[in-house]
Amino acid sequence: MTNAAEQYLFTPGPVKIPTDILALGAMQTPYFRNQAFSEVVFECEKNLLALTNAPEGSRAIFITASGTAAMEAVVLNLLDTQEQCIVINGGTFGQRFVDICHLHQRPIFNVKVSNTNLANTDSLENFQTASALLVNGHETSIGLLYDLHALGNFCLTHGMLHIVDAISMFVTDELDMQKCAIDALILSSHKGLALPPGLAMVILSPKALRRIKHAQTYYLNFKNHLEDGLRGQTPFTPAVTIILQLQLRLAQLMAQGLAHQQQRAKAIAEYFRAAIKPLPLKTYSAYMPNALTALSPTDSRKASEIVAELEHQYHVVVAPNGGELKDTLFRVAHMGDIDEAYTDVLINALFNYYQVTR
Ligand SMILES: *Cc1c(COP(=O)(O)O)cnc(C)c1O
Repeated sequence: MTNAAEQYLFTPGPVKIPTDILALGAMQTPYFRNQAFSEVVFECEKNLLALTNAPEGSRAIFITASGTAAMEAVVLNLLDTQEQCIVINGGTFGQRFVDICHLHQRPIFNVKVSNTNLANTDSLENFQTASALLVNGHETSIGLLYDLHALGNFCLTHGMLHIVDAISMFVTDELDMQKCAIDALILSSHKGLALPPGLAMVILSPKALRRIKHAQTYYLNFKNHLEDGLRGQTPFTPAVTIILQLQLRLAQLMAQGLAHQQQRAKAIAEYFRAAIKPLPLKTYSAYMPNALTALSPTDSRKASEIVAELEHQYHVVVAPNGGELKDTLFRVAHMGDIDEAYTDVLINALFNYYQVTR
């Protein structure tokens, strides 16, 4: 494997981590069952609630695992085997919610969608009896951003819990729990937050807090996490170092403002999309986030070969797709500590690969 330091990362996690965050990761891990660490956790919770504009009385919990554990935790703690829920299934991550619900016998309406951001929710009216709606705000497998405002209004009208996996849109794309009537928000460390992988977060509105079930899970039990969180602790050993890195990152985001970060991600995404116009590639989704651009070759080249060539010839890592989309789609993330100059490395590699003069 090439030394990671020599690689240019354009993957939707892990992403390029800023040096001050990396430096924290090199330090001795402190003991954590004490007031000093509780203060860190309290500060992380407070700043997360502020940055997501969570409604008054919301809580955040910290799970040491990748984001999928938080998806499963939400299903286990907020849904039960008696009530139906809607899963918006527009790609691999939508399918993951479907699989988790099936495994745990949560009855669902598996709503397969394509080429829509659901700004128009008429197609969901058939499923009014559902008690919750699950959606991946940004379906990372195809680079499609759903209209969370429209989905939030739909949920409000029908008294459903609005459960949003915002893992791949937080920081880079606008996200507002109150504006979009979100009741449970899932985040994780190694996408837009640009931390190492290993920490997932769930933010619960007062409405979601009231709907917590008696969940059949030990490690992922929300009641335990919430109770220990009252004293700034987690039930089990957390990813202490990532929480310290999160503390720094959130403080920086509070100081700079999220709008600034979103503008930066948007500028980089637009810069990239404009620069590659001369190449035989087309953007895949009509509802692209700032976080990512999904691209399809318009000539006979295979997407999987482009991904492999970029890595081997140019040390540039973009994300392949799997399954049916393996040869027709690949993805370029615009998350993390990157700028136009860093993005130029990828753009130049693509021009070089296609033997087109930039
Ligand atoms: C990355 C991601 C996840 C979590 O995947 P892990 O492999 O558990 O990190 C969940 N949902 C979306 C939309 C994602 O992009």
